[in-house]
Amino acid sequence: MNKKKEYPNSKIPVQNPYMGILFGLLLVLLLNGLLFPNIGKNRIIATDYISFIEKVDAGKVRDVIIKDNHIYFTADDDEGKTVAYKTGETNDPQLVDRLLKAQSPNESNKINFNRIVPQENSPILNFFLFWVLPGLIFYLIWKQTSKSIQSKIGAGGNFMSIGNSGAKIYAESDIKTTFADVAGQDEAKDTLREIVDFLHNPSKYTEVGASLPKGALLVGPPGTGKTLIARAVAGEAKVPFFAISGSEFVQMFVGMGAAKVRDLFKQANEKAPCIIFIDEIDAIGKRRDSGMGNDEREQTLNQLLTEMDGFDGRKGVVILAATNRPESLDKALLRPGRFDRRIQMELPDLEGRKAILAVHLKKVKHADIDMDVVARATAGSSGAELANIVNEAALRAVRMNRKAVTTSDLEESVETVLAGAQKKNAVLSDTEKRLVAYHEIGHALVAAMQTHSAPVHKITIIPRTSGALGYTMQVDSGEHYLMDKKELFNRIVTLTGGRSAEETVFETITTGASNDIEQATKLARAMVTRYGMSEKYDMMGLETVNNAYLGGDSSLTCSSDTASDIDKEVLNVIKEAHEKARHIITDHMDIMHKAAAFLIERETITGDEFMKIVKENEPCENHKS
Ligand code: ADP
Ligand code: MG
Ligand code: ZN
Repeated sequence: MNKKKEYPNSKIPVQNPYMGILFGLLLVLLLNGLLFPNIGKNRIIATDYISFIEKVDAGKVRDVIIKDNHIYFTADDDEGKTVAYKTGETNDPQLVDRLLKAQSPNESNKINFNRIVPQENSPILNFFLFWVLPGLIFYLIWKQTSKSIQSKIGAGGNFMSIGNSGAKIYAESDIKTTFADVAGQDEAKDTLREIVDFLHNPSKYTEVGASLPKGALLVGPPGTGKTLIARAVAGEAKVPFFAISGSEFVQMFVGMGAAKVRDLFKQANEKAPCIIFIDEIDAIGKRRDSGMGNDEREQTLNQLLTEMDGFDGRKGVVILAATNRPESLDKALLRPGRFDRRIQMELPDLEGRKAILAVHLKKVKHADIDMDVVARATAGSSGAELANIVNEAALRAVRMNRKAVTTSDLEESVETVLAGAQKKNAVLSDTEKRLVAYHEIGHALVAAMQTHSAPVHKITIIPRTSGALGYTMQVDSGEHYLMDKKELFNRIVTLTGGRSAEETVFETITTGASNDIEQATKLARAMVTRYGMSEKYDMMGLETVNNAYLGGDSSLTCSSDTASDIDKEVLNVIKEAHEKARHIITDHMDIMHKAAAFLIERETITGDEFMKIVKENEPCENHKS
């Protein structure tokens, strides 16, 4: 389809004034018809003066009115019905005598005779009175009502539509979200506070001659609160908030994305100060040179660039945009004068997670919660996941017929969100159960026997809906920003611990280790290609990460020779780790058996219970306590 032809690019009138006038005229026509039904209708029979005189003499005339050089009169016709006539006025001096004579002496034959002194309106005045004035009145009424409907809806916190090119962009006013709803993200808030202040009080900035950045780009992984914080800015600044997502531009306004952008900015300019928020801007802001061209999208992007250049930054229109794929954005969008400010939204750290949990716990009834435990168990979770965890916990409390959420609800829902719900009716055979138990204890034991690895928090062999038959949860005691080579390697060793236990105890291997294998390989690979942790390649970068915020898939930047050599390096790392794990397990077989038996009996044991078994059997070992 040739979309270019359909572009209503040039001038879509936003509110056509002629529409109003036309509308007014139509109403006038209608009303004139209703109020003066005789206009244009021929119910008065024209007759000549002689017939008039005859009718007067015959005593048939009832009312006579002389007006505008015409004589209007009513007379009974042959059947006795009253009919209206008119005739031209002649200069007849005997007319009055005739009329008087006709009505005497019989009282029943009374003629009402009247002369209406002509009030000569000038035709211009007439035209004005009957046509222009009502038209104007209706136009004003029309304009007023449409305006008040808009502002009423707007003030109510609902929506008002802009433009008239069919689909709608909404401006919300009266947003209740504030910075208090966004936990953590203090750096982002600091930057945005300046924008809020500017929207409150633009003159403070213009007096100094400072103009604020026209646009700020919120960048970060999904679920870190980008959309939320943008709304909070509008809520804090108490200004209208035009929100649209990039994909809506592409989808809703097929063939008119560019026109829509123009509409949006026009409307925003009228409503300034206000905020325009374009969510998921990568949908329209992708680099223009990337792969297949897309006319539609490029037109929209070009229009956006033009509009951003065109408007006056001092007026109080601030553009916020959010994306989790900043690297794919067109460079033109990022240059100064457009989205020149970049606000990083990170996955929350320990304190951030506590704060987010607190914000969401405020919305549910809860008992005393050990926030620290929950926050530590959710390392790497986004704000959205934490919100979900709190909600799951509330649902669990309801299921258990309790009135308030407890810490254990939260802990259970952490597992539900991260590993899937418990699969109550999955029955494992005794052999399988034993296998799973040894596998998990294998992980836990290897972790416990190494320095530099996170303490075991919980071990369980209750199957989960995600497919996991059991798992070992390790929880770091503090926050971790750097990982050294030894830590990374130990982590791989721990991952191979499950399989190692199967091998040494049962002399068999199972499919249960597939997830461990995947993770171990990923880590080992990253060590070689990205972290410069192999002897052979030193600090050579061999891989780049494409979507840092979306799973982080990466592509090799080396020759194919090197690529196959990398595989060998990775294999060596994994083999070495596997070997180490096997050693740890064979050296501590008694702990393996005891802990596994305990786990099979209980199905879920805590890290402390596990460490107790370890210590009892290995009192002077250098394991972590
Ligand atoms: P994004 O747009 O970055 O993908 P959202 O703003 O849509 O993420 O966040 C989704 C939900 O996650 C929010 O509605 C909120 O409930 C929760 N959330 C995310 N980050 C935070 C935060 N910092 N504080 C409180 N809640 C948060
Ligand atoms: Mg979002
Ligand atoms: Zn495993």
